[in-house]
Amino acid sequence: MTTATHCPYCALQCAMALTPTAGARLSVEVSGRDFPTNRGGLCKKGWTSAELLASPDRLTTPLSRGDDGELHPIEWDAALDRLADELRRLRIEHGSDAVGVFGGGGLTNEKAYQLGKFARIALGTSRIDYNGRFCMSSAAAAANRAFGIDRGLPFPLTDLDTADTVMLLGSNVGDTMPPFLSHLQSARAAGGLIVVDPRRSTTARLTDEGAGIHVQAVPGTDLALLLGIAHVVLAERLHDAPYLEERTVGLASLRRSVSAWWPERTQSVTGVPAATIRQLARRLAAGRSVYILTGRGVEQHADGTDTATAAINLALLLGLPGTPGNGYGTLTGQGNGQGGREHGQKCDQLPGYRKITDAAARAHVASVWGVAPDLIPGPGIPAVQLLQSAGMPGGVRALMVHGSNVVVSAPNVQTVRDALARLDLLVVCDFFLSETARIADLVLPVLQWAEEEGTMTNLEGRVLRRRRAVDPPAGARSELWIMAELARRLDAPGEWSTIPAAVFDELARASAGGLADYSGLSHALLDEEVEAHWPYPVGSTGTPRLFQDRFAHGDGRARLIAVRARDHHEVPHAAELTLITGRLLAHYQSGTQTRRVPELAAAHPELVAQIHPTTAKDRGLDDGGTVRLSNARGSIDARVGLSSDIRLDTVFLPFHYGDERSANLLTSDALDPISSMPEFKTAVVRAENVVTT
Ligand code: SF4
Repeated sequence: MTTATHCPYCALQCAMALTPTAGARLSVEVSGRDFPTNRGGLCKKGWTSAELLASPDRLTTPLSRGDDGELHPIEWDAALDRLADELRRLRIEHGSDAVGVFGGGGLTNEKAYQLGKFARIALGTSRIDYNGRFCMSSAAAAANRAFGIDRGLPFPLTDLDTADTVMLLGSNVGDTMPPFLSHLQSARAAGGLIVVDPRRSTTARLTDEGAGIHVQAVPGTDLALLLGIAHVVLAERLHDAPYLEERTVGLASLRRSVSAWWPERTQSVTGVPAATIRQLARRLAAGRSVYILTGRGVEQHADGTDTATAAINLALLLGLPGTPGNGYGTLTGQGNGQGGREHGQKCDQLPGYRKITDAAARAHVASVWGVAPDLIPGPGIPAVQLLQSAGMPGGVRALMVHGSNVVVSAPNVQTVRDALARLDLLVVCDFFLSETARIADLVLPVLQWAEEEGTMTNLEGRVLRRRRAVDPPAGARSELWIMAELARRLDAPGEWSTIPAAVFDELARASAGGLADYSGLSHALLDEEVEAHWPYPVGSTGTPRLFQDRFAHGDGRARLIAVRARDHHEVPHAAELTLITGRLLAHYQSGTQTRRVPELAAAHPELVAQIHPTTAKDRGLDDGGTVRLSNARGSIDARVGLSSDIRLDTVFLPFHYGDERSANLLTSDALDPISSMPEFKTAVVRAENVVTT
């Protein structure tokens, strides 16, 4: 029987059908399914996803590091007994915060919820955060302070279908989520696709031949560019004055903050011609149906929250958020990047996207968990600090990692590799032996996407059913089962169901009254394929479009927040280049999964650094040769890939590779002061030719 489910990878959550195959190497065949986000289309990652289920690398038994330094198979009971004993010992000797939990934006809603609960009342630790901190925490922080709520797209993706102007800032959907492109056809036909990217990416090339404008700004100057566009909007009175008067506060201070960003000054910082800056402002203001969308390229910076805020300010000046046929949004990347940040994996939040410092929220969630409110610890510390604290005085001494490959994906990753080596105990739950699992003391094999039931929340805030289509290997277990078994061994209070539908029901109760309210939803309702955009309180039919009447702040108004461009902490000198990192069509995140799919691995067998031919010539680099990229944090050798699609001052590396090929050996761990987003997207590097013999 065919099973209707969704792709294991990105936040588009393309709908697919899995049909059993008798006697074939792969147990199921994948086909696209009609759905609003993908319209039956899949990218090559989705088409080949059945390979994950058949991978010979699949973990099927717990592994424990022995005295010989190697990982050896161990029985589940012995693994969990050992783990519970160690966790108990560390808590007694060093306090509850000596144990940390690191979650992931790929976990189902049920697991993300249970992990937050497990950390706080089974382990009693405040030390939980997740890899979404690296992903879009800055965009989330910006949306929360401007709108009072953070839902990536506050409208259905299909609203873009009739747009005549779409501005994509720092997002290469042509490679990251190709079926998305069908939603840009109208804007392209109207000549209104605007792509801001230092590279002439797959998406930027779609602006060719009159379809739009590609803006190739100096890396890391997006904030200045947005201030400059806002300056023109106000100077030329292109703003929506009635909307601003009725629906926002803060115009006067915003006006002052952009007053000095006249186009010629903006050009001097961003490299974008003043005429183009004026053209962008006028095009955005003249559009009939206009959307501004941000992605990781502008968000993964140490000023990421302010940059996303500047994009929101521009959208508000133009009267876009909440008006029919217009909008602002941020494009979630990870499969459950949206749901992953709503149910309590973040160090400062409880289910329902509630603040952990809110007494009423604590009381409500505690009542659902069956504990006293003071049993819930206070705020923890964000991801980079959590990881780097490992083994340090006052830091964590044990870390449980779920659905994340931090020794590849963290910034300035050598510091994280060093930190994890200081731990008393590193536990990794994964279905492959990722680079992080390889260094663990204990590896617990878990179920993957098509082997279990659950829900995901896509980039539109739409809650979806993920369904079991195949039987898991006998030795693998669900994280829900692992948490229940550990909670029992640790004498944790409360109920610990292993049934996804029951955990979802508890999640829904815990979310009731919160910003991300799922209380009207259940697996049974989702099985009817209802259109389920949160908030979905009891008695409602969901909220496809937010902000139509009011924003989520108490007074119903959005905040225009004055932000200013800051000097970069790293500026290239002389022959240095700015490194930017990003994704390839055939790979997903740290590559743990996609590097194990033969067709995807073959598409990009080597780490290739994209460099402009003129830049390469100046450094004696030949196409296909080897370049050594280095800075004070590390050094990487990569194959040279010449391309005039990149700026002369910039080099691009994909971040999907592990070990000595990890682009994050070079990235900076400078943090955004508001969201703790690391500075992933600009790092100064030297580039030297490597002579191979
Ligand atoms: Fe769709 Fe993303 Fe899966 Fe590709 S990776 S098929 S775009 S959900």
